[in-house]
Amino acid sequence: ANKKLRDSLAELFTVQQVTQAINSIFEIKELLGHVNDIIIGVMGVNNSTIILYDEKKSRLKVYTTTITNRNELISLYDNINCDMLMSVINTGEPIIENFVDENEYLFTQDREVNSLICVPLINKSKRYGLVLIEHKYQNAFDDDNLRLLNIIGQQVGIALENVELYQKMHELATIDSLTGIYNRLYFQERLSKEIELAQKEHYELSLAIFDIDYFKRFNDTFGHLFGDKVLKHIAELIKNSLRSRDIIARFGGEEFVILLPRTGIKEAYEKVENLREIIARTYIKDELITASVTVSFGLSSYPEYSGNESELLRSADNALYDAKECGRNCVRVPKSN
Ligand code: GH3
Ligand code: MG
Ligand code: MG
Repeated sequence: ANKKLRDSLAELFTVQQVTQAINSIFEIKELLGHVNDIIIGVMGVNNSTIILYDEKKSRLKVYTTTITNRNELISLYDNINCDMLMSVINTGEPIIENFVDENEYLFTQDREVNSLICVPLINKSKRYGLVLIEHKYQNAFDDDNLRLLNIIGQQVGIALENVELYQKMHELATIDSLTGIYNRLYFQERLSKEIELAQKEHYELSLAIFDIDYFKRFNDTFGHLFGDKVLKHIAELIKNSLRSRDIIARFGGEEFVILLPRTGIKEAYEKVENLREIIARTYIKDELITASVTVSFGLSSYPEYSGNESELLRSADNALYDAKECGRNCVRVPKSN
């Protein structure tokens, strides 16, 4: 009775630790690495490995493992798609094996593994992968070990589902649905961070706002749907011509912002002037219509024209106003102080 109590306390403790990890760690690699460590720590096994399943390719892949020996890793990686492990994924039935034959479990070849348990990470409709624990002794596991690993597997399955939901929600919250580029909310967040970084590391940062010229008239002439197509097209065009560290976002209806980190006003001007020309030269078509638009740019930079985030935005916006005043289809920078 004493041993049973001790065992179930240990079990409770493990489950509680895993739950705590799931609730406190949002980065999936870190979380699963931590789950491996907990398993090692409380179950006294030699190795714990989390394997993820790619449903499209029907393949298993080692995601994180406590194994560090190079040769052992090679044996594991090379044979991970073996029949036994695939059967756990396909049937959802765990394996408990206390006398491992390395010909049956090829991933244990030339490794000192004599007992193993493998449970699926499955949640409702989705197969996420497997948890595999190994022991160097024969007859190391009993049904209690299997039960505990099953519970951990279920918890990790829920965690993986949450991560997926979180990613989807994050995308919904940060991406503009019409154009597929970032929205204003995300941009504001990034701008704060980028300004902070520029201040800390003493580099320049440029910001451009552009707005489509006479877009109301354009919509009236060609229809709102074609107008939408133009917005999408321009967003795509600019996104593809920026460097990976630059950020483009839809700031409002037909207004966009571009952030160019580590870029002074002169370089930014050339870049933006080039974009303006590209847009003016681009014809957008559907079955009936072929049309083009022009845009006006307001450009500013930190620290040359502004000392903080709101000044940067305001000075770029004022420059855009100037560009509109000067006849549109042009780039303006702030008037010298
Ligand atoms: P300006 O050169 O001064 O910028 O003139 P404008 O007509 O572009 O300026 P205004 O701000 O008066 O009009 C903006 C227009 O942009 C009005 C609106 O119909 C259009 N617009 C805003 N959002 C969308 C959108 O999501 N889709 C479409 N098709 N049009 C939009
Ligand atoms: Mg506008
Ligand atoms: Mg406009």
